[in-house]
Amino acid sequence: MKVLLLICDGMADRPVAELGGRTPLEAAEKPNMDELARRGVCGLMDTIAPGVPPGSDTAHLALLGYDPYEVYTGRGPFEAAGAGIELKPGDIALRANFATVDEDLVVRDRRAGRIQEADRLAEALRGIKLRGVQVIFKSTVGHRGALVLRGKGLSHEVTDSDPHQVGVRAMQVKPLSRGAARTARLLNEFSRKAHEVLEAHPLNEERRRRGLPPANYLLFRGAGMVPELQPMDQRFGVKGACVAAAALVKGVCRLAGMEVLDVPGATGGLNTDLDAKRDATLRALERNDLVLLHVKGFDEASHDGNASAKVQLIERVDRTLGELLEAADLIAIAVDHTTPVSVREHTGDPVPVLIAGPGVRTDDVRRFDERSCARGGLGRIRGKDLLPIIVDLMGKGRKFGA
Ligand SMILES: [Zn+2]
Repeated sequence: MKVLLLICDGMADRPVAELGGRTPLEAAEKPNMDELARRGVCGLMDTIAPGVPPGSDTAHLALLGYDPYEVYTGRGPFEAAGAGIELKPGDIALRANFATVDEDLVVRDRRAGRIQEADRLAEALRGIKLRGVQVIFKSTVGHRGALVLRGKGLSHEVTDSDPHQVGVRAMQVKPLSRGAARTARLLNEFSRKAHEVLEAHPLNEERRRRGLPPANYLLFRGAGMVPELQPMDQRFGVKGACVAAAALVKGVCRLAGMEVLDVPGATGGLNTDLDAKRDATLRALERNDLVLLHVKGFDEASHDGNASAKVQLIERVDRTLGELLEAADLIAIAVDHTTPVSVREHTGDPVPVLIAGPGVRTDDVRRFDERSCARGGLGRIRGKDLLPIIVDLMGKGRKFGA
């Protein structure tokens, strides 16, 4: 049985005044989602727990069947995995920004003028050695990068060096527990050595000459320990793949043992190439049991407070969904969290969820939206329940007891 799991990032909302008190899902023309709601079973889902605003990383861990409270310590590992760094359980990973500091280490630009050539700088950082640990640094998108420390006795319980504002000094990494003192020291040593290398790098000399802010410092945040996640095929007997643009989602899927497809043209933004994602999904469905298709733009529209952009993307995604209906036996639509355009941030409201396919006990829900799904036959589930329910409908559920 082939399964398509469509995850619409931040698509759920609250009633919006400019939409006449409807949510974007209620206002959008989306015949395919509504047809699936009629054919399937719907419900509401607390991705993490009732009233807890989920991060996209913890939400996706839950949607892949893990308990985020057990496996999540910080965002770093998922960004690093999404950037293609091969990680091992126990590694410490952090997110990094190339930034501009002055001679007193006061941050002048947290993104070094949104530098685009950071991979040349990352190359030079590869020579930095730290005693007793292996160091991996990779630049990712634009001014961003990821740092991984591998070795014995490391801890993720350290503070950010990123002050998250300009005009103040870059901070020292501090340990948050006794066992983290060495990790904090190593990170500060790396920062110091990186600053020396970057300060003298020809690319930065060139940038200074052209009046551009030099990328002469690395700011770290989001330290986390790479968790030991039982891969999806071992845990559920399901071979899975992921079609996504967002590094964070790719990272979660990669650590869950899924195949992660590269989709040129898929940006994670509002204008993402949905045709490219559709084609990648069709290819992935040929050789996998389950394909997770992630669309990020809803969240971006919500952070901008743009309700009509959200409605338009729902309608575009619905057309793409229509082109995928024939390729999967079972289709599930989930949302990772609510991002109301009125709030512009993730909130703890439950999200709508649906499963359509052979054997599902249909209910009376005829439309896929927040209010309609509240009357659905799935009732109210947790995010980590969704995959086991899908796996059981695939005929692969494992009996508990005799
Ligand atoms: Zn999200």
